[in-house]
Amino acid sequence: MSRGFNFSAGPAILPEIVLQQAQEELLEWGDCGASVMEVSHRSKAFIRMAEEAEQDFRSLLGIDDRYAVLFVQGGATLQFAMVPMNLRRSGCSADYVITGSWGKKAYGQAQNLGPARIAAISEESGFHDIPDPQLWALDNRASYVHITPNETIAGVEYHQWPETGDVPLVGDFSSTLLSRPLDVSRFGLFYAGAQKNIGPAGLTMVVIKKELLENTTENLPDMLSYSALAGSGSMLNTPPTFAWYLAGLVFKWLVSEGGVAEMDSRSSRKAELLYNAIDRSDFYYNPVAESARSRMNIPFTLANATLDSTFLEQAESEGLLALKGHRSVGGIRASLYNAMPVEGAEALVAFMQNFEKKMG
Ligand SMILES: *Cc1c(COP(=O)(O)O)cnc(C)c1O
Repeated sequence: MSRGFNFSAGPAILPEIVLQQAQEELLEWGDCGASVMEVSHRSKAFIRMAEEAEQDFRSLLGIDDRYAVLFVQGGATLQFAMVPMNLRRSGCSADYVITGSWGKKAYGQAQNLGPARIAAISEESGFHDIPDPQLWALDNRASYVHITPNETIAGVEYHQWPETGDVPLVGDFSSTLLSRPLDVSRFGLFYAGAQKNIGPAGLTMVVIKKELLENTTENLPDMLSYSALAGSGSMLNTPPTFAWYLAGLVFKWLVSEGGVAEMDSRSSRKAELLYNAIDRSDFYYNPVAESARSRMNIPFTLANATLDSTFLEQAESEGLLALKGHRSVGGIRASLYNAMPVEGAEALVAFMQNFEKKMG
């Protein structure tokens, strides 16, 4: 089978040109005479690559010196715990706005470890909307407010940021980071598991305001401490070297394609193609409030759910891969991350229209 258009929610599509480059230098990386996976993370070559990756990432998002950038392990799920462990001040709570399953999990981890509050939740609407920020019950003594800018499963995305006053905003950007410009100054901390829109699994990006680092909880195990990780350049121990390298190639690819401004316009085009196809037809349906629709993950159902498996089989045979909806919601889900070309969205729309003609 040849490479298809991969609509997986994660681990997800990577730019083909990046995979080719990795393939070309797999056996001999630079003049190391060995693969990037076989050299010390303390070697000059690796350190140079690691620093360049950080610089490219910073320049893509406009992250200045007031923020530390960390390359860590444990996925976004470990951040669900590290955020409260590090940022929740003693005697204080933390606020969570829950707009989907990932936010709910983040809240669950925070609650296991200490006091946490739900400031707003859209579960009653089936996580199909973002509660109006005017109505959030925020605690002005909270250590932070946690949001999920893009809920990967139900396909719900913030298109503007809430005001949280002096309380730092924390965002789980796992499935949307680098898909558009970001006003970093709105956030105290944000993080993203790499395997959605950045690189391979095993790497998580964390960006934290240095001011917050100074006040983080003491006596945490080093590997769970933002300040220990920042103090060591994310090299307290062996980092995920191959994932770091590959993310670095993806950052260079993004820069060469025109950066996040270009990804922004491509994301809009791809999402618009697909939402138009869904909205034009009675055969397909997306339940998310229009103002909160995700550009990255677009779930939809067929009017007749018994056709789901036929849809998925036929799509796959035409090279449109991994369109099965998350097991908790069923139906279909198309993820349109940066590496998905506009042609992929076009091919999916053409397939959907044909399928409806045959089956509708
Ligand atoms: C995938 C995902 C996670 C979980 O990521 P892991 O890296 O597997 O821990 C958390 N939050 C969001 C928004 C996600 O999309």
